[in-house]
Amino acid sequence: MVIDLHNHTLFSYDGKHTAYELADNACSCGIDVLGISDHQFTDGFDFGEYIKQLRKIRQEFSNRCEIKIGLEVGTRPKPDDFLAKSMSKSLDYCLFESLDSDKGMDFFEFVEWRRLLSCKVGLAHTDIFKLEEKYGIDILAVLKKEEIFWEINTSGNYTYYYDFITNSQKRERVSKSGITLSVGSDTHRLYELNLNKLISANELVCSLGNPVLFSRGR
Ligand SMILES: [Zn+2]
Repeated sequence: MVIDLHNHTLFSYDGKHTAYELADNACSCGIDVLGISDHQFTDGFDFGEYIKQLRKIRQEFSNRCEIKIGLEVGTRPKPDDFLAKSMSKSLDYCLFESLDSDKGMDFFEFVEWRRLLSCKVGLAHTDIFKLEEKYGIDILAVLKKEEIFWEINTSGNYTYYYDFITNSQKRERVSKSGITLSVGSDTHRLYELNLNKLISANELVCSLGNPVLFSRGR
């Protein structure tokens, strides 16, 4: 079972493909669950149109692979309030990005946001161990309690990925915490997609024994 829940289409200012192209590629590569997670802050981003098009693609590909409708919420600057009201019902999940950045949203403010949303909510490319140092609290316990999943991002842009795969103590803590995990390639251009790395990351999260987001149609 291979999931990839972090992908960008032309709806993102930095995405280079249509959702159809991404879905078609995912099916040919043997990706079982593909999540589209465009940036909500892109100029001219039309949330209604986004949902409409992704539902169409989900229907079109229903016999080949499972498409999930997500959104990547920028936290630098903070999102608009309209999002919380409009997005929960239409989304399968949303990713809040880079909470470990100095310019990112405060973690406790993020938890308040999380409580407003009825869809699944996760942290994208965020080093949760860095957050622990910053706030001096057990972040894993908060993620578990607030039902927030954690993304293993395979794009190569974030060092926490390498740190996590080579640090057995961190892997053990995550495993014991029981938090839900996801895997995302953060693809903006298809040639960047490293399929072998994506597959390894999926194997890693399965080996930890934690629930994996949407892995069994959840
Ligand atoms: Zn992204």
